[in-house]
Amino acid sequence: MPYFVDVILPLPLDKRFTYELLEEEAKFLKPGMRVAVPFGKSKIYTGIAANIHQRPPEVYEAKPIHQILDKEALITLKQLKFWKWISSYYMSTEGDVLRAALPGAFLLESEGIIQLKNKETLPETDLSDDEFLLVEALQRQSSLKIQEVMKLLDKKTVLPIINRLIEKDILMLNQEIYEQYKPKKTRFVKLSGKYREEASMHELLDSLSRAPSQREIMLTYFSLTAKSRKPLKLKSLLKQSKASPGTLKALIDKGILEEFQQETDRVSFSGEITSKEIVFNKFQQEAFVKIKEHFAANKVGLLHGITSSGKTEIYIQLIKEVLAAGKQALYLLPEIALTTQLIQRLQHYFGEKVLVYHSKYSVNERVEIFRKILNHRDSGQVIIGARSSVFLPFTKLGLVVVDEEHESSFKQYDPSPRYHARDVAIVLGSYFKANILLGSATPALESYFNAQHDKYGLVELNRRFGEVLVPEIEIVDIKTKHKKKRMTGHFSDRLLEEIKATLKEDEQIILFQNRRGFSPILECNTCGHSPQCPNCDVSLTYHSNNNQLRCHYCGYHIAMQQKCMACHSTDISTKGFGTEQIETELKALFPDHKIARMDQDTTRGKYAFEKIINAFEQQEIDILVGTQMVTKGLDFRHVNLVGIMNADNLLNFPDFRAHERSFQLMLQVAGRAGRTKKRGKVLIQSYNPNHQIIQQVSTGDYAAMYKEQLEERYNYKYPPFYRIIRFTLKSRDYSTNNTAADWLAKSLTNVFGEYVLGPEFPPVARIRNEYYKNILLKIPQQQSLEKTKEVAHKILLSFKAIGAFRSVRVVVNVDPV
Ligand code: ADP
Ligand code: ZN
Ligand code: ZN
Repeated sequence: MPYFVDVILPLPLDKRFTYELLEEEAKFLKPGMRVAVPFGKSKIYTGIAANIHQRPPEVYEAKPIHQILDKEALITLKQLKFWKWISSYYMSTEGDVLRAALPGAFLLESEGIIQLKNKETLPETDLSDDEFLLVEALQRQSSLKIQEVMKLLDKKTVLPIINRLIEKDILMLNQEIYEQYKPKKTRFVKLSGKYREEASMHELLDSLSRAPSQREIMLTYFSLTAKSRKPLKLKSLLKQSKASPGTLKALIDKGILEEFQQETDRVSFSGEITSKEIVFNKFQQEAFVKIKEHFAANKVGLLHGITSSGKTEIYIQLIKEVLAAGKQALYLLPEIALTTQLIQRLQHYFGEKVLVYHSKYSVNERVEIFRKILNHRDSGQVIIGARSSVFLPFTKLGLVVVDEEHESSFKQYDPSPRYHARDVAIVLGSYFKANILLGSATPALESYFNAQHDKYGLVELNRRFGEVLVPEIEIVDIKTKHKKKRMTGHFSDRLLEEIKATLKEDEQIILFQNRRGFSPILECNTCGHSPQCPNCDVSLTYHSNNNQLRCHYCGYHIAMQQKCMACHSTDISTKGFGTEQIETELKALFPDHKIARMDQDTTRGKYAFEKIINAFEQQEIDILVGTQMVTKGLDFRHVNLVGIMNADNLLNFPDFRAHERSFQLMLQVAGRAGRTKKRGKVLIQSYNPNHQIIQQVSTGDYAAMYKEQLEERYNYKYPPFYRIIRFTLKSRDYSTNNTAADWLAKSLTNVFGEYVLGPEFPPVARIRNEYYKNILLKIPQQQSLEKTKEVAHKILLSFKAIGAFRSVRVVVNVDPV
């Protein structure tokens, strides 16, 4: 009986592909190992062996695999299960998950390589100049890549030459697969064997008495190696002895020292563990006990603790205990909260046991961490990472912490799989029976809802650590300020007063301005009203091209209004100003102070973000203007004033989550003020000082926000009461896209009726010459999620079978945020 293996290929295929195995291969191969397999006409791909069996595929003849690439499984069985779960829940393919899960360097490339058939004897036939050059080069080098041949012959079209030589039976061409990952080698030195005896060491030093700088190196060498027996890095020897490389080389040439190379970890920690025991205050202690109770009852914990209440210290204590039990801890954070500040804080406790994993790391660094965790080496025990770290090959996960769990950046937007790291981390944790703790000062409505319904265990922490008071929040009514001519640019007189007072005290200031809007929002300058959709809880957006006000969720639209619908004033305008404008105004107002800006434009480079944060920490910056980047978990000691330039901006964002988000953002940014001793101050400028969200922010009343928003979600059929799947159709052809969207919406409506909304043009209906159209499917709680997806999947398959829609791509987003 022949053997077969089902392989997950890094391609968006609906199914695994089956290949044939030799018996010895079948005995050696384990699920989770990589195999190189042919696919399509001539391509070789690296895939993951998923299962080995003896059932031949029904509809095609299995091809043999090309080769097995691992000696041991690279992917654990739990990961394979996890991938499968993600692909089915998020309606993506396993191939997409594979691509998201593995650092690219693990997916080998195929490349043409040529070799001589017979190296010893030169061919008898006549060769052209190019052919001769190539053969000669191959006699020296044994093999060449096609690209190298191009360089060698200095031309682009080398394939005809190669082909001729293959036909003449001189060359052979094979597809060779090579590993892209290159371990980092470090140069070390050691004492040559014959000088290791005590006596010969003295002799050696004596013999060098006339070469003082060489003698100096050897003295340094002995003193450095006396303390630790570890191999000595060539670089450190040079640095410590202050000698020149030439002098060192002389010693190596004399055979006194020997040089050798060794693989080293790229990602290592050089500091020392400095932190002492954590002593909790009363509130932390109570919270800690409660969290453990929930864990004991196998519940996911939700730690709702206000900013600076000491949540991080609680996480650290939990991690300590998990490490003591010999297990791994995963600490998930939104990408931009992964600052050196936090990493250092954890390193102080856990030293080199801390591993950091996120997208700014190079492929090689990620490969190293992946391997470390797989081999559960000592250092692989606390993993701090952004969302993709859920894909690491954990073997003994004991704890998952999801900090800032409300952050929408935990959701992958593009490409597929469009997973939510918080939600999948809970699934991952359950495979290991690991404890799971979500933490936030402003939990996501969904999470709090789960806690209220006893699905999660709620723990509240309402006091700041160290008797620090929560900042005092003042709302500034800029509508009145405008009327009374008390505005200077975008600054109210109150904000300017507070800025001046804070600068005088040598304290720092953060000014927050979020510019998320793509198209501007219509706003009344008299009463601050912006038109709302009657069917959804969102603001209408002004579209200048057709002069309409539109709802992006249900498609409702009206003609652009010339008068305010609330107060009939004709003084209406489109709104939108960004951080840059604020920065410019500030510089004119406070020419003697250092002002910096932190937003996407100023933080492009790898360390740009870090640089600004460090400068701010060192008090080299007085005022920091920024977008939501300034809100993320930063712990600055000297910030005493936070200004929110325009709260309405956030509130009017056309999204059913806009109010929840505004609340979260404003409280988070407010939390940056007065984290030590002195009570901080927060000023919120708004045209709508009585807006319920602003009121709730000013009193820090999460419960009120939750209650009110939940009601709206219930009324308008949004999460957590209804789940949402969004289908986005994209095509370069406008009318095909529309026809296709109508077809899909109709097919879905046939099954799901009123729960299908759209098709509707998204606010940005064309991106890079592709037209977009959205269909929303709402899933009530009592309806089976699995069945719904199954049906939707079938409809999508029929859709794909329609020739006329071939140019249309459908992007499926389950639980869009
Ligand atoms: P959060 O994560 O809730 O915003 P942090 O854990 O950052 O709060 O705590 C706020 C500040 O209080 C930090 O500077 C932290 O070092 C300090 N802190 C919190 N708990 C303790 C503790 N038990 N002992 C000493 N310092 C603490
Ligand atoms: Zn008005
Ligand atoms: Zn609407």
